[in-house]
Amino acid sequence: MEGQRISVNRAPCAMCTTKNKVCRRNCKSALYFPAEKQREYESAHELFGTPTIMRMMRSADDEEEMSMLASSILMEGEAWTKDPVKGAFGIIQKLKWKIAMRKIYLDELHEKIKAVRKETKLGL
Ligand SMILES: [Zn+2]
Repeated sequence: MEGQRISVNRAPCAMCTTKNKVCRRNCKSALYFPAEKQREYESAHELFGTPTIMRMMRSADDEEEMSMLASSILMEGEAWTKDPVKGAFGIIQKLKWKIAMRKIYLDELHEKIKAVRKETKLGL
């Protein structure tokens, strides 16, 4: 007698859905491109194309690299969808600008602290 199996039904992964193929239970793509990431995957598919995404995924050495690579692919797709001119570079530019603004603010705070310390030493 066969033991009772718990069947976990999941939606087809984003890659199989895009390729219009059956997503098998042991589909490796489902780990990295689950159904919940369909929108992001479609953006990446438009940018790279599924054959290129598959080739890129084969270049990863282990599970950790594959996971990071899949996240990177999905983020690139999103970046180019949101900003078709600058893509991920636009995000980096914005982050650099935010860092520069925070550095200016931090420098101002350091100057204020220095001034307060100077006043305290002088007993003012
Ligand atoms: Zn699949």
